[in-house]
Amino acid sequence: MRFADKAFLVTGGTRGIGRAIADRLVADGARVAILDRTLAKELSSNALAIRGSVAREPDVRRAVAKVVAWAGRLDGIVNNAAIADPAVAAPEKLALATWNAFLATNLTGAFLVAKHAIPALRKTRGSIVNIGSTRARQSEPNTIAYAASKGGIAALTHALALSVGPAIRVNCIEPGWIDTTGAKLRPIDHAQHPVGRVGRPEDIASLCAWLLSDEAGFVTGATYVSDGGMTRKMSYA
Ligand code: NDP
Repeated sequence: MRFADKAFLVTGGTRGIGRAIADRLVADGARVAILDRTLAKELSSNALAIRGSVAREPDVRRAVAKVVAWAGRLDGIVNNAAIADPAVAAPEKLALATWNAFLATNLTGAFLVAKHAIPALRKTRGSIVNIGSTRARQSEPNTIAYAASKGGIAALTHALALSVGPAIRVNCIEPGWIDTTGAKLRPIDHAQHPVGRVGRPEDIASLCAWLLSDEAGFVTGATYVSDGGMTRKMSYA
């Protein structure tokens, strides 16, 4: 119960990795508000679902005010909400509206939530965790908008850390392939990973909980890759 009396805001926490993070923080004793476009269901009494978009500043302002009114404090935020499908399109065919949508949710959303949460986080000497992606560093062809948004998250993390410290720590997790669908995977999907398996949402949740905790008190501006070792593999044809 390391987070007894603490309160967090997790964006995109209705499903997938965000839901695992929210559930983990609640299990560790926290009160957790989830800001998502879709209202989260089957929440414990220590969780609050707030409907809204991270890309809309009025929604974000209202959500931060709501969690502070509900819990009386804010100890951390997890910028997890994203358009997570990398939208395959050749750069010369990529619509400006699609590009803008990726940047608005995946990057501007993290800025907006941080912006409105900083005053409350200063009071608690809180912490921010941004969920990036290994796609900030490696790519498949024709996924430029998602990759650029996650590259922005990497830079936002250290720029924010230098701007809001020492009161607030800011860190980033870059997940590799995390199975959020429960779909049947092939043996090779697991075997290609140096750890021998595809990632689970709980893998990211445990690292996130550590980064939010006082045990990570000497860690800020850092990026942690959690990808089963995939980005350390040579891949020459
Ligand atoms: P999911 O698509 O499963 O869940 C994302 C959640 O964010 C959904 O509930 C979605 O709601 C919500 N969301 C999307 N846009 C907004 C918005 N504008 N405002 C509020 N909520 C929004 O994603 P994952 O769990 O797979 O990914 C979570 C994070 O991890 C993302 O940042 C992703 O980029 C990152 N990541 C994931 C990897 C993976 O393999 N799963 C790998 C690397 C990084 P809605 O249902 O309405 O769309």
